[in-house]
Amino acid sequence: MEDRLILKFLGTGTSQGIPVVACKCATCKSEDPRDKRLRTSVFIQYKNVDILIDTGPDLRQQLLQNHIEELDAILLTHEHADHTAGLDDIRPLYFKNRRPIPLYAIERVVQDLLKRFQYIFGDNDYPGIPKLDLITIDQNSEFLIKGLPVRPLPVIHGQLPILGFAIGPLAYITDAKYIDHTVLDSIKGIDCLVVNALHFEEHHSHFNLQQALDTIQKIQPKVAYLVHMSHHMGKTKNLESQLPTKVFLAYDGLEIVI
Ligand SMILES: [Zn+2]
Ligand SMILES: [Zn+2]
Ligand SMILES: [Zn+2]
Repeated sequence: MEDRLILKFLGTGTSQGIPVVACKCATCKSEDPRDKRLRTSVFIQYKNVDILIDTGPDLRQQLLQNHIEELDAILLTHEHADHTAGLDDIRPLYFKNRRPIPLYAIERVVQDLLKRFQYIFGDNDYPGIPKLDLITIDQNSEFLIKGLPVRPLPVIHGQLPILGFAIGPLAYITDAKYIDHTVLDSIKGIDCLVVNALHFEEHHSHFNLQQALDTIQKIQPKVAYLVHMSHHMGKTKNLESQLPTKVFLAYDGLEIVI
């Protein structure tokens, strides 16, 4: 069983989540639990290593709902608030386990965290702060978490170079708008691809649905899951029947074994 990767979708919505505050559209008013989307994040268990990707503003709720009590590492895709604003919510995991949690990110993201979360990383040793080991990674170099190889997948988000991650049979990519062919080739035929699909219209920094499907077509994974959806995508029920076979809309709380 340890050789299987468990992937849990903690959140599958775009930056505003669904429902959007004060929106009265059909998606936001939907009673289908799959249409309630917290900000995009996943939890991965593979070879006895527990990994959280991104710490968005819904993190507290996500840790509670999914009974996450320990983390071996946090990986950050990029610094945008919908992927980092909940960083402080890892405090109880630090208090419980009393070990600093390693956090892996590229240099630009590390610099951003040092500024925005100055109270965590400054010299001040206030007892209520979480302890994190900031580890700067190179977008072109594989690194190890407790011996488990993780390979960054550099992708472009609007103008911003950000990271996806390849871990064993999984490639996880969110907030991409462009992926270089060398990166596409490096994950060709992978067992499971997670990729972002915002809505139907063109967007300056995110794949729309067609671009996500085209990317899946190029990578040819055995199975693909879409994340980071906007309320403009419509209801899950209406959309899922229109997707190609082996392509699914992820939803919050979905757990898959790869
Ligand atoms: Zn809405
Ligand atoms: Zn972003
Ligand atoms: Zn985002």
